[in-house]
Amino acid sequence: MQTRGMQPTERSTGRSSILFLGSGGARFVVARQLRSSAGMWMRFGTTQIHVDPGPGALVRALSHVPPCNPRELDAIVLSHKHLDHSGDVNALIEAMTSGGFRRRGQILAPADAFENGPVVLPYAQRYAGTVVRLEPSSGPYVIENVELRTSMPHLHAVQTYGMHFTYGHLRVAYLPCGRFFDGLAEDYARHKPDVLVINVLRYRDDAKVDHLTFDGARSIVAGVRPRVAILQHFGTKMLEAVPRHLAQELEDELGLRVIAAHDGLTVDLDTEVAAVGV
Ligand SMILES: [Zn+2]
Ligand SMILES: [Zn+2]
Repeated sequence: MQTRGMQPTERSTGRSSILFLGSGGARFVVARQLRSSAGMWMRFGTTQIHVDPGPGALVRALSHVPPCNPRELDAIVLSHKHLDHSGDVNALIEAMTSGGFRRRGQILAPADAFENGPVVLPYAQRYAGTVVRLEPSSGPYVIENVELRTSMPHLHAVQTYGMHFTYGHLRVAYLPCGRFFDGLAEDYARHKPDVLVINVLRYRDDAKVDHLTFDGARSIVAGVRPRVAILQHFGTKMLEAVPRHLAQELEDELGLRVIAAHDGLTVDLDTEVAAVGV
C-alpha cells in the first residue's frame, strides 16, 4: 500500500480534491442520465474514497482521464441505500478487491444498506476488508489518514447520514439527500466545515418531499457558512434553472464561494480554500 512507510507529517499534508464523476440525482435525471449518477471520488493525500457510487460509477471512474483506479480505493462510503447512491456499489467492491481475490478496503454505510434487502450484497460484503455500519452523530471512523464523522439522521425514507471528513486541518462536509428541517444547519455548523458539498435536487416547490429545494439549500449554506459550498445532485427542475447561475446568485448573496458541480469537474480543495483566505 502506498501510504506504508510514509511519515505522519507527509500523510496529512498531501493535496485534496473531489472529482465529481456524476452531478445528477433524482429518478428522471438518473434514468435518462441527463447528468451522471456516478458519485464523488475524493482524494485526501494518498487516501482515496468513493462516495455514493450510483449507476455508472465504475464506467465513469475507469473512463475518466486520467482514470481512477478502483484497486487503489481505501473505502467506499454510502450516505444511504437509494439507487442513485448505491447502484454500482457491488461492481465497485469487485473492482476494489480484484474480483474478490484481494480482500481489502472498507465499506461504510448505514446498517440498512447491509440487511433486509441489502444493497451491498452478502457475497460482496465478504470481499471487503472491513464492513462498517455507520451510526448517526458518531465517529471518528478512521480511513487511513482521514477521519469520518456522521451527521444527525436526515429526514429521508431510509437511514441517511451526512459525512464530515477531516484530513489534517481540512474539514469537508457532505450533506446528502433529505427534507429540510430546523436544526439541520446547526448540526453541520458544529463541525465548522471549510467545504460543504450539498445535494440540491429540487428547485422550488412546496410539495412535501424528502429533498432539499434551492431555497432550503440557501438557508443551510447561510447557516453553516463554509468557506466553499458546492451544489450537486441536481434534478430536472434544477438543471432547467441552470445550476451555475444559481451558484453565482448564492455567491453574491451570501458572500462566500459557491460552485455548481458538473460531470467530470475536479475541485482542488486546497486551492479553493486558500483562494477564499481566512
Ligand atoms: Zn439521491
Ligand atoms: Zn435518497
